[in-house]
Amino acid sequence: MDVYGLLGNPVGHSLSPPMHEAAYAALDMDARYVTFEPDASDGAAAVEAAETLGIAGLNVTIPFKEDVLDAVEPDDLARRVGAVNTVDFSGDVPTGHNTDVAGVQRAFERFDVPLAGADAVIVGAGGAARAAAVALVTAGADVAVANRTVERARALAADVGADAFGLDALPDLLVGADVLVNATSVGMEEDVSPVPADALHADLAVLDAVYSPLETRLLREAAEAGATTIDGAWMLLYQGVVAFERWTGSDAPVDAMNAALREGL
Ligand code: NAP
Repeated sequence: MDVYGLLGNPVGHSLSPPMHEAAYAALDMDARYVTFEPDASDGAAAVEAAETLGIAGLNVTIPFKEDVLDAVEPDDLARRVGAVNTVDFSGDVPTGHNTDVAGVQRAFERFDVPLAGADAVIVGAGGAARAAAVALVTAGADVAVANRTVERARALAADVGADAFGLDALPDLLVGADVLVNATSVGMEEDVSPVPADALHADLAVLDAVYSPLETRLLREAAEAGATTIDGAWMLLYQGVVAFERWTGSDAPVDAMNAALREGL
């Protein structure tokens, strides 16, 4: 039996176990997906222990995504994001990957939104914004990063080759934009949006990284403006799909994984 797992703290409410186990069931695989919750300082040691124990693959979440970089050989995307969310033990040394990047790209692809040549705006400059920025720049979009703390937007933009703004620039930035990503946590705790409703329009495709609730105020207002809306579960789904495909070399049963994920939300 192959054992896969999630390294995080806390991991109690993660939807990765049901999502991956739904894939194993759909493909009749002899595999399990379990959670590991070491102390916050033990991320690198946990990766070494997982290798020793013969764990087949690990997902990595907060607070270990950055620390684990030192315990693996990161690929180019993980290095560019500065964070690892997937570890592959199939080679001579554990390799580190960031499937949040492909998760963002595949979510847009699912909705037939072209990214090459698109004018894209990312709100936020934390971990999710970093993955989204690398995803959009790599796919050939022209990216503007707008963040409450402008210094953080500048640092991210300089790292990935984007432009940096404060949140007050959003109405102007969105006038000719094709793609908008909310990568802040705004909309999770309260029914508020980080983007003024009157800046939204029908030519936009809007991805909200927030997945709880699924229908955020931003997505509601974007739909009212006639925009294409993509909820955060699509990004979450596809980072898992891409991790599954890396570990197994097989196509993932996307519908089964999507159903398990949405049932858990
Ligand atoms: P993070 O690193 O802590 O970054 C938080 C971001 O939100 C920062 O840009 C911060 O701005 C901004 N922010 C927080 N409160 C704000 C407010 N009241 N007004 C304006 N901006 C505010 O968090 P993260 O890991 O990037 O996660 C961000 C969101 O993405 C979370 O909701 C998380 O659940 C979600 N996420 C989803 C997926 C997925 O697969 N769907 C994956 C990863 C994360 P400052 O820099 O000014 O503080």
